[in-house]
Amino acid sequence: MRLAKDKVVFNMSGKNEPVLTVDSGSTVVFETMDCFSNTVKSSEDVVSSIDFSKVNPATGPLFVKGAQPGDTLKVTINKITLEKTGVVVTAPGLGMLSDRIEKEETVICDIHDDSVTYKGLTLPLKKMIGVIGTAAPGEGVNTGTPHDHGGNMDCLRVTEGATLYLPVNVEGALLAMGDMHAAMGDGEIMGSGLEVAGEIEVTVDVVKQFNFPTPLIETDDLWVTLGSRETMEDASQVAIDNMVELITQSSSLTMNQAGMLLSLAGDLHTCQVVNPNKTMRMELSKKILQ
Ligand code: CA
Ligand code: CA
Repeated sequence: MRLAKDKVVFNMSGKNEPVLTVDSGSTVVFETMDCFSNTVKSSEDVVSSIDFSKVNPATGPLFVKGAQPGDTLKVTINKITLEKTGVVVTAPGLGMLSDRIEKEETVICDIHDDSVTYKGLTLPLKKMIGVIGTAAPGEGVNTGTPHDHGGNMDCLRVTEGATLYLPVNVEGALLAMGDMHAAMGDGEIMGSGLEVAGEIEVTVDVVKQFNFPTPLIETDDLWVTLGSRETMEDASQVAIDNMVELITQSSSLTMNQAGMLLSLAGDLHTCQVVNPNKTMRMELSKKILQ
């Protein structure tokens, strides 16, 4: 089963009509455009030429049968396939150097099996999904903004082999995703990753006995809780509170003791500091807590 790349939403809302309806346990391929709806083709295509009404398309939504508000949607990311070139952009007003940037610039980069080429430099390939989420409650949330439903989290742990647990806020969950990157550093400081189109194969499962308030990631080695709020401090608090909750629910440790454990062995990292809400993540090794 496959969702075509022209079936997109720009708001993660319960009002969106599903593009496809599947049973829990199904494997589905999402074709995704890059965050500029594939309109940036050369270094001549600079930010001022971009149609901002078409930024951050998310393919979907997918309706998963049986998913009810209060459930969790388990999204296993089986495989990510990227196109052979990606784009990174900058312009005055964007990112952490915004008021020092005098001139717009777009760089096209080649993507190889394990690396990308940027201005003659070789960087590691880091495939990741920037925007992924369920429908947010109420009026929904635009696809440029991350919050408790997921959305534009730009977390490099959301990658091939990882499992993402998302809260279900509306019947069917309404999963959508896009904005893949071939490379991005923690922070995404200029506001652009190596933006690229491609395909994502996921398996979706409705989990009934597990209710978690924000996105949670499981990798081979790590538990990762995410927080997205207006400031890095508030986002950190959400990620930390939810990791403490996960530890106290799944071990005999008290809140005090879970906090001390994270102080000793947990890592607080930045996902991104450039979107309308900032995203932070708390990580704990699965060697410490299974
Ligand atoms: Ca993004
Ligand atoms: Ca992006």
